[in-house]
Amino acid sequence: MRESQRRVLIVEDEPTIAESVAVRLRAEGYEVDIARDGPAAVAAVEADRPDLVVLDVMLPGFDGLEVCRRIQAERPVPVLMLTARDDETDVLVGLAVGADDYLTKPFSIRELAARVHALLRRIDRARSDDDAAPIVLGDLEINLAERRVRRAGAEVHLTPTEFDLLVHLANRPRVVQPRERLLAEIWGWGDAAAGTRTVDSHVKALRRKLGAELIRTVHGVGYALEVHR
Ligand code: CA
Repeated sequence: MRESQRRVLIVEDEPTIAESVAVRLRAEGYEVDIARDGPAAVAAVEADRPDLVVLDVMLPGFDGLEVCRRIQAERPVPVLMLTARDDETDVLVGLAVGADDYLTKPFSIRELAARVHALLRRIDRARSDDDAAPIVLGDLEINLAERRVRRAGAEVHLTPTEFDLLVHLANRPRVVQPRERLLAEIWGWGDAAAGTRTVDSHVKALRRKLGAELIRTVHGVGYALEVHR
């Protein structure tokens, strides 16, 4: 992977954290920009078109959740959110407004770098689907090359993670996929217990956008994509 061409925007008002993350990611070959408040973050995403955004929730101006809402409305960009320790509300709202993954503070810089790699690798893998034929299941059409989704002819805008989750489910329609496996395959998390709510939040977003009946919950196990004509 040619990391040198990757651009990461760090949005964080605490200079010590912003700098230490920047130093680590630069050492690993990323081009790194820093924004220190909400409005500056939105402007930087528009101007610099980063490949990934590391986004703190607590920011001056407007907060990270609002930043996430605004940048995802423009163009899907992978977002790794930084939240206060054990603040479940921030995590759930963050995932609902389009964050792809999250870390709670305090985090290790090494863990953050690993998550950044994992998220970018996932986007790369998805891009290697460029020549694949569209997946058509009933009235659902998934165009892998263009990363576009239509339901009953109408285009639906998904975040990068929502799209990947949908493709995972659609590759094996009607088959139940355990939440732990989805978490490992999509997010690359080894510690499944900590993150199954991440899967739940993204399923919720897919249902809201594509129709609740499209994804079946198998309690205690996972999810399956249903086919509708
Ligand atoms: Ca902060």
